[in-house]
Amino acid sequence: MTQYGFYFDSTRCTGCKTCEMACKDYKDLPATIAFRKVYDYEGGSWTDAGDGIYTTDTFAYHVSLACNHCAMPACMAKCPSGAIEKDGKTGLVHIDQEKCTGVGACVTSCPYNVPVLDDAKKAQKCDGCADRVAEGLNPICVDACPVRALEWGDIEELRAARTGTVAGIAPMPSPDETTPSIAINPCPAAKEPGDTTGAIANEKEVTNVPA
Ligand code: SF4
Ligand code: SF4
Repeated sequence: MTQYGFYFDSTRCTGCKTCEMACKDYKDLPATIAFRKVYDYEGGSWTDAGDGIYTTDTFAYHVSLACNHCAMPACMAKCPSGAIEKDGKTGLVHIDQEKCTGVGACVTSCPYNVPVLDDAKKAQKCDGCADRVAEGLNPICVDACPVRALEWGDIEELRAARTGTVAGIAPMPSPDETTPSIAINPCPAAKEPGDTTGAIANEKEVTNVPA
């Protein structure tokens, strides 16, 4: 089985959110739902030496995230309706809208804050643009990024083609929980998952609005 996934280069990402908007446009999403979200992670402080010299360890960077089509999807494990499936050929994690009963177990179990309930109480999330991938195309977010910070493909091939990729940087949780299919090139400022020295600066933007 090919396990498709995203490569994200945090040294390139400018936080422009073109990826997020391209996805919303392509998927015709309402204002309250975004399948891809760009987190602004910032922290640090400064000190005044009293002699006119100030030192700082402030940092800021962006993390563009959609569904990670995890190897061990918590959403799928917790869904009581068996509505979430992992495709045997592509590894893409898909929500069957017919089977979804809207209890929201995926919403609360996904450590990446990915699924969201829509107005019809159906869970929705990034499907990896499975229709485009079936035609040999990239997900729309990948093609939309103006600085080529996103790539798509067999996650093992994406990892093998580069050195130093990681499966998570703050504010993402530890990858141990679900083994996400993502490879990240961490920027010099990037912090480890679980970091407490920074905070999400655009929390309202990335929080799912309850339907
Ligand atoms: S990122 Fe969340 S919704 Fe996507 S497969 Fe992993 S656990 Fe499921
Ligand atoms: S479009 Fe590219 S540069 Fe802009 S936020 Fe998305 S990943 Fe970052």
